[in-house]
Amino acid sequence: MAKKSVYFFGGGKADGKASMKNLLGGKGANLAEMASLKIPVPAGFTITTEMCTAYYENKGQLPKQLTAEVKKAMVKVEQVMKKKFGDLKNPLLLSVRSGARMSMPGMMDTVLNIGLCSKTLPGLIEKSGDARFAYDSYRRLIMMYADVVMEKAAGLEPADGEGIRLKLEHAMEKVKKAKGVTEDTALSADELKDLCEEFKAIIKKNIGKAFPDDPEEQLWGGIKAVFQSWNGKRAISYRRIEGIPHDWGTAVNVQAMVFGNLGETSATGVAFTRDPATGINKFYGEWLVNAQGEDVVAGIRTPSPLNEATKNESNKHLKSLEKEWPKVYKQLAGIRDKLEDHYRDMQDIEFTIEEGILYMLQTRTGKRTGMAAVRMAVDMAESKMINKNTAIMRVKPEQLDELLHPMIDPAAEKLVAPIAKGLPAGPGGGVGQAVFTSEAANEWAAKGLKVILVRNETSPEDVEGMRSAVAILTAMGGMTSHAALVARGWGKCCIVGCGAVRIDAKAKQFTVGETVVKEGDWISLNGTTGKVYTGKLPVLPADPDKNKWYSTLMKWADAMRQINVRTNAESPADAAQAVKFGAEGIGLARTEHMFFDSARIIFVREMIVADNEADRRKAVMKLLDFQKKDFVGIFKAMAGKPVTVRLLDPPLHEFVGSLLEDRKELTALADHCGLPAAKVEDRIKSLHEFNPMLGHRGCRLGIAYPEITEMQVRAIMSAAAELSKKKVKVLPEIMAPLVGTKAELAHQRAIIDRVAAEVQKEYKTKVKYMVGTMIEVPRAALTADEIAEVAEFFSFGTNDLTQMTFGYSRDDVGSFLPTYLAQNILPKDPFEVLDQGGVGQLVDMAVRKGRSTHPGLKCGICGEHGGEPSSVKFCHRVGLNYVSCSPFRVPIARFAAAQAAIETPRKEAKGKGKGKAKNAKKK
Ligand code: ADP
Ligand code: MG
Ligand code: MG
Repeated sequence: MAKKSVYFFGGGKADGKASMKNLLGGKGANLAEMASLKIPVPAGFTITTEMCTAYYENKGQLPKQLTAEVKKAMVKVEQVMKKKFGDLKNPLLLSVRSGARMSMPGMMDTVLNIGLCSKTLPGLIEKSGDARFAYDSYRRLIMMYADVVMEKAAGLEPADGEGIRLKLEHAMEKVKKAKGVTEDTALSADELKDLCEEFKAIIKKNIGKAFPDDPEEQLWGGIKAVFQSWNGKRAISYRRIEGIPHDWGTAVNVQAMVFGNLGETSATGVAFTRDPATGINKFYGEWLVNAQGEDVVAGIRTPSPLNEATKNESNKHLKSLEKEWPKVYKQLAGIRDKLEDHYRDMQDIEFTIEEGILYMLQTRTGKRTGMAAVRMAVDMAESKMINKNTAIMRVKPEQLDELLHPMIDPAAEKLVAPIAKGLPAGPGGGVGQAVFTSEAANEWAAKGLKVILVRNETSPEDVEGMRSAVAILTAMGGMTSHAALVARGWGKCCIVGCGAVRIDAKAKQFTVGETVVKEGDWISLNGTTGKVYTGKLPVLPADPDKNKWYSTLMKWADAMRQINVRTNAESPADAAQAVKFGAEGIGLARTEHMFFDSARIIFVREMIVADNEADRRKAVMKLLDFQKKDFVGIFKAMAGKPVTVRLLDPPLHEFVGSLLEDRKELTALADHCGLPAAKVEDRIKSLHEFNPMLGHRGCRLGIAYPEITEMQVRAIMSAAAELSKKKVKVLPEIMAPLVGTKAELAHQRAIIDRVAAEVQKEYKTKVKYMVGTMIEVPRAALTADEIAEVAEFFSFGTNDLTQMTFGYSRDDVGSFLPTYLAQNILPKDPFEVLDQGGVGQLVDMAVRKGRSTHPGLKCGICGEHGGEPSSVKFCHRVGLNYVSCSPFRVPIARFAAAQAAIETPRKEAKGKGKGKAKNAKKK
């Protein structure tokens, strides 16, 4: 017997439940759950995702068992709704809705009013006593069906502007214009009736097929179209961006229609149980009288606010549901409480009011901005709705990025007047050049330009362009429009419903009154207030410390965390910023950046072109004081926190290569050194390497030119000694780069220890220091047990380790990596997200091997991956002591580490490790 493929819900009962998302999709599972909770939901049934998979395995044939099961479920729906599908007197109409496991806003298409045809129309008119309503429903069905089923699902791809939906919309616009009205609701029954006939003619002419005049054909056409839309271009593109597997499939929900377009006592709406932009605990939403389905979302009319407390600039003149229909509002608010209490999370809901009676059509966990996510998590934990661990797990580490995000400088903003104001759909500041199509956004962004995508409204086709843009501005749509939902999900600056903006797509410009903004002109958006400015306003870094929810959540997270978070920084200013963000040390201070300083580069070059040790030593020592000053600054900024200093790493050619093109500089250097220019030139040319990344760099420099190591160690240690004497605590960790054999590190270590001893003697003070190495050459990982015998710490340089493990030149991956990612040869860019299966094995092995000969060996990571959440979690799991990342990633790393500790707690840390103990004390 085949598995059950159809799940019924309605009349206070349901076959399915919320936990069956994989089988029923999110929408179907939650409709079932709401029905069981006795929340009013129109009856219906869900066809499982397994049927979608079967459909594709069957090469686009619907499995046979389905017909019988659908028939049986349909009878139940008819019984509950007291109507019959295809009936001449009392026809049941249906919606056919998709629903994947994860909510994919707007990606899959819904067809409403299925079952209306020449046979059933008279019955609907008779029964409702409202011909206008019947034809309004009919014209909607025809439009949706033509678009979704006859065009998109059939794989037709008309040129831009040639799509059937647009053609039908134009026909409707024409009727409205002729009548001199702007709202759909102003059209009469007769006008809509004529329009339906015109629609059908347009469809016949353009698609070459007639709109089906049979309820059964419409129903099965709809079901197939949902399955088909799973593999539509835009759905695939969304899944790629969001990392949703392509083989999950979608479920189909077939549900009795309820009508928000049945006159002045009917309405439709969308709401969030809390404000999705700010997280404030207020019921938040929009509704429209005499409207159906997605009218609210589509930005056709400006929707009204749900209640008085959440009115905004653009809708404050409109009547709230709370004022207009208090009884229905109260019932809805009661459902809001019930749903939040049941799901223990913010819900995004859809409802329809049919002649004063409320129906719920959807509930799902609502998307939210990072700011809102943090605030809701903390509020819910503090009110005991969820526990602290759940609160921590509720926020994606990446979402914190938004709180750390720049905003338009308020001082500068005060001085200029906004040209327009829209709805603040995604917070933060966005400054970029205006573009008007998704394609342009992609093209410009690929060239490294910052663009703001300006559209009337966005649709799923725009998703990739929205991704490329730094911010999004739309003329239409409300806080629940497509643009708002998508931008909010990504934490992107976004302003919607900016009615004053008039877009002329042909001329590639928009106007606001007299102001003209052309493609490429700079504009600035304040996504927190909805204000739009011309020009390029300065942006300020964020100040998350002022946000008390953020501080609270981070406190909870730090108490859970079992590894340390450090930063990669070489300037005292960066170090100080990182400490503000919670850095507990420096994991990587690169010394070469210090060499480029204009006051000292000449001595660096003198050192490089010297052709004997004596001259080189003389030049090197001129750098000593500079370097010492650098380290004093850093050590002071870190005030007793450990600082890992890496000895000189890059190939020397990098410091002098440019002189070959710059004769003046070359002559100056020759004069400075008292050498003939030709000799200097020869020397520089001799430094050329075919493959500098694999050439004379890292510890290979310190071994060939030990005086460089000597000078650097002297600078580090004398800075430390000097500060120690002044009672400033200093913890230097000296790190040799690019070690591949034990002998290399032993060689460098001998110099380091010797010079360190000399300095301590000179200063007559003891300074604690450590010596270690970067693990960035595969051989170092393979022989980590040997290397650990002469190392006190390992720091994984996963940028080079990735480069050398894959054999991809970091500087050249641009030529093939995009192809690899597009074709899924690689799931992710390994330089961004640590390749756990390959490079990660080397890390894991090196930690274990290292600690086998050197128990307690301190291990950390200092590659770019140290701030990427999934990589941080990996570092926690393989037992690293810390991760190190750029200052702005520090909070994200702290947070990811806390989540890792919740997901896979480390045993050894229990009771004594950091965090755990602190946490226990507080409870
Ligand atoms: P999406 O996944 O885009 O949210 P939905 O399936 O929720 O698509 O449907 C689109 C619109 O149609 C929504 O506004 C929804 O509330 C409305 N709708 C869906 N089913 C019904 C129904 N049975 N009666 C009335 N409106 C419906
Ligand atoms: Mg939709
Ligand atoms: Mg919906």
